[in-house]
Amino acid sequence: MAKQKKYIYSFGGGKAQGKASMRALLGGKGAGLHEMTRVGIPVPPGFTLTTDVCTYFYARQLHYPKGLEGEVIEALHQVEKILGRRFGDRANPLLVSVRSGARESMPGMMDTILNLGLNNQTVQGLIARTQNPRFAYDCYRRFVQMYGDVVLGLKPTEKHERDPFEVILERKKESRRARFDTDLTADDLKDLVAAFKAEIKAKLGKDFPEDPYKQLWGAIGAVFGSWNNERAIEYRRINRIPDDWGTAVNVQAMVFGNLGNDCATGVAFTRDPATGEKCFYGEFLVNAQGEDVVAGIRTPGPIAELKGVMPEAYRELKRACKMLERHYKDMQDIEFTIEKRKLWLLQTRNGKRTGFAAVRIALDMVEERLISKEQALLQVEPEQLNQLLRPIFDHADKERAAKAGRILARGLPAGPGAATGRIVFHAEDADEWKKRGEQVVLCRIETSPDDIRGMAAAEAILTARGGMTSHAALVARQMGKVCVVGCEALQIDYSLREMRVNEIRLKEGDWISVDGSTGDVIQGEIRTLPSEVLQVLIDGTLDGKGSRVYQRFVKLMRWADATRKIGVRTNADQPDQAQISLAFGAEGIGLCRTEHMFFEEERILAVREMILAEDQAGRRQALAKLLPMQKKDFKGILDIMGNLPVTIRTLDPPLHEFLPKTEEEIVELAETMKVPAAKLKSKVELLHEFNPMLGHRGCRLGISYPEITEMQAKAIFEAACELRREGKNPFPEVMIPLVGTRQELHLQREIVEHAAHEVMKAYGVRVRYLVGTMIELPRACLVADEIAREAEFFSFGTNDLTQTCLGLSRDDAGKFLPSYVSQKIFPDDPFVSLDRDGVGSLMRIGLEKGRRVRKELEIGICGEHGGDPRSVALCHEIGLDYVSCSPYRVPVAKLAAAQAALRKKTYGFSRT
Ligand code: PEP
Ligand code: MG
Repeated sequence: MAKQKKYIYSFGGGKAQGKASMRALLGGKGAGLHEMTRVGIPVPPGFTLTTDVCTYFYARQLHYPKGLEGEVIEALHQVEKILGRRFGDRANPLLVSVRSGARESMPGMMDTILNLGLNNQTVQGLIARTQNPRFAYDCYRRFVQMYGDVVLGLKPTEKHERDPFEVILERKKESRRARFDTDLTADDLKDLVAAFKAEIKAKLGKDFPEDPYKQLWGAIGAVFGSWNNERAIEYRRINRIPDDWGTAVNVQAMVFGNLGNDCATGVAFTRDPATGEKCFYGEFLVNAQGEDVVAGIRTPGPIAELKGVMPEAYRELKRACKMLERHYKDMQDIEFTIEKRKLWLLQTRNGKRTGFAAVRIALDMVEERLISKEQALLQVEPEQLNQLLRPIFDHADKERAAKAGRILARGLPAGPGAATGRIVFHAEDADEWKKRGEQVVLCRIETSPDDIRGMAAAEAILTARGGMTSHAALVARQMGKVCVVGCEALQIDYSLREMRVNEIRLKEGDWISVDGSTGDVIQGEIRTLPSEVLQVLIDGTLDGKGSRVYQRFVKLMRWADATRKIGVRTNADQPDQAQISLAFGAEGIGLCRTEHMFFEEERILAVREMILAEDQAGRRQALAKLLPMQKKDFKGILDIMGNLPVTIRTLDPPLHEFLPKTEEEIVELAETMKVPAAKLKSKVELLHEFNPMLGHRGCRLGISYPEITEMQAKAIFEAACELRREGKNPFPEVMIPLVGTRQELHLQREIVEHAAHEVMKAYGVRVRYLVGTMIELPRACLVADEIAREAEFFSFGTNDLTQTCLGLSRDDAGKFLPSYVSQKIFPDDPFVSLDRDGVGSLMRIGLEKGRRVRKELEIGICGEHGGDPRSVALCHEIGLDYVSCSPYRVPVAKLAAAQAALRKKTYGFSRT
C-alpha cells in the first residue's frame, strides 16, 4: 500500500519534524521555524500544514485531504503538552496564531490571524493567567477585528470607505474622550468586542464563531484562500512566483509582546538592508504586537535602544541573529517577541535588500570568509545591478532647494535613489496616472499589501508612518523603488487630496522629490545626475577611487567575467552607445542596425531619393550620397571598438518606413525633392504592404536592389581599410538579415565578398572580417545546415524569430499579450523572456544543424532577449557563444551569464 502522505509537521520543545531544506513543502516561514527549533533557538511550539494541503485544497474544490482534521488535533495536543495549556480551556487556554508562508516570502500579501482561541469563556482564563483584564480584552477585540476582516470578510469595499471596525473604535474613543487606543479601559474593550460581533451579525448576517475549533478551521481556510487574493496574485505576477506552489499554514502558540512594559516586539536584520552595512539593525516597540511594527501604525525605535530597556533579551537576540546569519550564510530578517523579558523568535528568512546592499553584503561576506565568490555571485539578483546605475540628485540643485527652504521634511531612507514626480495619494491613482504617462510619487499615511500595483507604478513611495521594516519599506526595497517612510511631519488628508507640512500645503498633482538615500522630501522638481558608477565610467566626472559603489560594482563584474562562459556584446548603432558599452566591458557589438543611421535630416532625403528613383542608375546616384555618411558612422564605431568584433547588419526594414505618411508630409517632401506630389504619392501607395513585417524587407531588399548591399559593404570596408591604414585592427562582421534560404545568403554574400575584395585591393590593405546571417525565421533554423555552408556566423534575431515562430505580431500583440500572460497561456511575455519550449527549440535545432556543417561557426543572439537574465541562462544552456543586449543591460547580462555557468556547475541544470 502506498504510504500515506504526511500533511503536518510539528516543531517545539527543541524538536522539529522539518528542516531548512524543506522550503517547498513547509514554505519559507515554516522551514525557518523548524530549523530554528532544531538549532536550539527559542521558538514557540506549533505545526505546519504543508503546501501539499494547499495544492489539494485548490484541486478538490476547497476540500481538505482525508484524515487532516485528526492530524491537526493531534499536533495541537502536542503543543498543549509542551506548554501545559489547552486549546479552548476556560482556565488556562492555549491561544495560537495562524499564518501563511509560501516557498518565497510574499511579505504581507496573504493573511494572518492572531490570538485565535479566544471567546467569552477563554478570555477569563487569559485574565486569570495574566492578571491583566485590559490586556486580555485588548487581545480579544483585536482577534474579533482581525477574524471579522480576514475570515468573515467585513472590510471596506472601495478606497474612500473607512474600515468598519476602525469606525466603531473611533466612536468609542470619542465617547470616552480617549486620545489613544491605550486610553481605553478593560470595560471599554469588552464593549468593543460586543460591538464588533454585533456589527458582523448586522452586516454579514453571521454569528462570530465562539467554538475555538471552528475558529481554527475558519482561519486555516482563509489563509489557504488568501493564496489567491488579488494582491497575492499581483505580487506573484510581478515577482514571477508560480501559482501552483501554494502556501503552507503555520499554527503556532501565541507569545505576547503587549503584556506590559517588560514585553516588546520587533524586527531585526543582521545587516542594514538599505546600504548593506554590517551592523545589527532593526526596530522594536515596547508593549506591542508584531503587526504594529510591520503595519507602520506606530513608528518603532531603533534596536540599539533595546539594550537599555531589556539588556538580557537584547544580548540573546544579538547572539541568535549572529548564529542564524552564520547558519544560513546570508543576511537574515528576523521577527522576535519578548514576553516578560523572555525572548522568542517567530521568523527568520533571507532579508530583502536594495541593489546597493545586495552587492555590498555579497562582497563583505566573501571578505569575512562566510561565503565563496561563487555564492556571492549567486546572491545578487542581476536586475538589482540596475539600481547601481540609477540617477542620484544633482547636489547643487538640491542645495539650492535647501536654501530656498524647499526641503520639507526628513523621513527614514528606506529605498535609496532619487526620484521626482507628481503627488498622488491612492495606489489606484498611481496606476492610472502612470498609464496616462505621468511620473508619480505615491504618498500614503502607510501602505498596505493592497497597494502593490500602485507602488509598482510609482517612481517613489513616501509614507508618513512606519519604520524601516514597515510594509512600504520592505516592498519598495524589493522592487528597487526610491522610498522614504516614517516621515512624521507629513499630515496627509486623503479626503482633501492634500498633505501639509507645517504651513505648506501640497495638493494632488504637485511636484515633489524624494531622496531615498537621505530621507529628504523636497518640494518641486530636483535635477538628477547619473549614478556614481556612470559618473566614473561614462562621464569621467568622478574618480573611481573616491566611490565605494563603483569599486564594489567593478569587483563583482570582475568575478562575473571570470566565471561566465558566454560572451556579452552590445547592440549599438552610434559611437556614444559603443563607448558606453565598452565602459561596461562589452566584448564587441552584436548588432549595429544601419537603418538607424538613415533617419537624420540630411540622410533621410538621400534615402528617400534612393527609394523613389525610377531605375538602378537613379538609385546608385542616391546611394553614392549615402556612402560617405555611412562610412563615417562605421569608421567611428569600428574605431571605438578597437579590435573587437562589430556586427553590422545590412538594411532591414521595409522601405515605406522611410517615406512620409500624411498628405501634408508628402506635399512638403515633393517640394523639397522637386518632384510632383502626385508622383510621390503614387510611389508611397505602391510601396504600401498589408503585412510589411513579412513583406519586402531584410535580405529581400538586397536581393531586389543589390546596389544597396553593395554600397553598405563598400562603406564598411572602406571605413575598415582606412583604420587599417592608420595601424588599427578593426574587425567587421557583415550580417545579412531575414534569410530563409541558402541561395539568398549566397547571393548577398557574393556582393559583400566582392566589395571587400575590391576595396581591400584599392586600399592595399587586408582586414579581418566575417560574413554571416541573422537567424530569425523558423525555416532558417530548420535548414541551418544548408545556410551554414554560406555563413561564418549566426546571430539569432529572436524578436523576429519569436514573431514568426509564434505567429504573433511584435507590433500588435501588446493589446492582448498581458491577458495571455495573466491567464497563464504564456508564462511570460515571449518578447521579453524567450519562449523556452518553442523559440528555444528552434534555436537548438539551428545551432546543432549549423555546427554540424561548420564546427567553428560563431553563434550569438541579438534580439531584445539578450539582456533578459532568464533568456541569458537559456542561451548559455543551448551553447551560444555570446549574447548581445543594449549598453545599459551589459552588467545585468554578465551577472546572469555567470549565474547560469555556476548553476549548471552546481546543480547540473539551470534553475530558470
Ligand atoms: C530581431 O529580430 O531579433 C532583431 C534583432 O532584429 P530587429 O529587431 O531589428 O528586427
Ligand atoms: Mg529582425
